[in-house]
Amino acid sequence: MSNDGTGLFELPAKYLELQAQAHELAVSVRDIAARADESSETDPDVRARLAASKLTELAVPKRWGGRFDAVDSLAMTVVREQLAAESGHLDSMFAMQGIGSYGLAVAGSDAVRDKWLPKVASLEAIAAIGLTEPNVGSDLKALTTTAVVDGDEIVVNGHKSFITNGGDAAIYSVLAREGDGYSLILVPADTPGLRTERPHQIIAPHVLSDVILADVRVPLDHRIGEPGKGFSLVLATLATFRVSVAGASIGMAEAALRLALNHANSREQFGGPLSRLGSVPEHLASCWTDIEAARSLTYRAAAAAARDPLANLHLSSMAKVAATETCGRVVDRSVQIMGRFGITRGTDIERLYREARPTRIYEGSTEVILDSLAKQLVKKGI
Ligand SMILES: Cc1cc2nc3c(=O)[nH]c(=O)nc-3n(C[C@H](O)[C@H](O)[C@H](O)COP(=O)(O)OP(=O)(O)OC[C@H]3O[C@@H](n4cnc5c(N)ncnc54)[C@H](O)[C@@H]3O)c2cc1C
Repeated sequence: MSNDGTGLFELPAKYLELQAQAHELAVSVRDIAARADESSETDPDVRARLAASKLTELAVPKRWGGRFDAVDSLAMTVVREQLAAESGHLDSMFAMQGIGSYGLAVAGSDAVRDKWLPKVASLEAIAAIGLTEPNVGSDLKALTTTAVVDGDEIVVNGHKSFITNGGDAAIYSVLAREGDGYSLILVPADTPGLRTERPHQIIAPHVLSDVILADVRVPLDHRIGEPGKGFSLVLATLATFRVSVAGASIGMAEAALRLALNHANSREQFGGPLSRLGSVPEHLASCWTDIEAARSLTYRAAAAAARDPLANLHLSSMAKVAATETCGRVVDRSVQIMGRFGITRGTDIERLYREARPTRIYEGSTEVILDSLAKQLVKKGI
């Protein structure tokens, strides 16, 4: 964003520093990004470089080795914008440390927080969150995983599906039905009865597994927060991190536009560069315009979420819809501008084309978010 002198449309210095650090890290994984982005397992070199950057400290509050007193949505957003431009694997690894541990940080018992959160901050322990089930996606309240207290333990039974970091995570925050409500339970990966399987892989490879919990027993203090109040922790997690998906999408969109622009400037047809032919320049300019519009909303929403996540969930949701849909359109147009070179396997633009697609489905699909925004709008007005 340009400096207009008012400070209104300029990132404060601490975020510019983070942006520069994240850019440096993203560029430093270029030599291994293609390999990591094709992998369904955690890449050890990407993990080591991310850990060395210490950026995962942003995912955890200061009390447990984090960077800021509380997790800062704008910091997460600005960093993800840089990381996703170079590697989806790197971006996901960074983001999930926060998404997988936020409930624990907000409401976990001190013993469990003290044990795990410093390891999450340093990336010694990989975090994951288990909400989705084979037959339950957007309609989370239909979930079937159960949690039942037995003496001083909680017994968890169920099947979680499409869990990012599944198989490689050290801890899972699992949402389960408990009585009439839903509780979030922290299940360490080595707990007897927990196993992972990798039956699915997506078009943009991702560390993803199913997590099966068969009579898994954890001590009572592994229930995060009050019994039956797990949904509010999931909501708090979304309110803090949803906008960061928008950041990642803007990073991908801009990376795609750069590739298309370079291609259009250097390739000649009909006696001149593509960038001067027919509708190509107009497409380039409208992609640029769309990216800047989405970025303005995203930074504003992320700054608002950094101040008060729950009160500004509507803005984060709007930014997620706007930026992910923009990214889809920009990447698609960029591919079109690059012709056959845009659809060639193993190229950066092909990776971006595949990586852009899932963002409109996870952490609230476009339709589900618009549905809840519509309900809020109709009921309460603007
Ligand atoms: C890369 C990736 C990583 C993921 N990581 C995790 C993870 O770490 N943990 C986890 O728990 N889950 C994870 N998921 C799962 C993700 O949360 C679900 O995919 C998401 O909740 C959507 O559920 P679904 O795919 O079952 O789609 P469905 O809920 O079946 O929806 C299908 C379609 O119907 C539309 N639809 C659904 N309900 C409505 C409605 N009320 N109004 C209008 N349209 C509607 C949707 O918008 C969508 O287009 C991940 C998914 C992906 C792709």
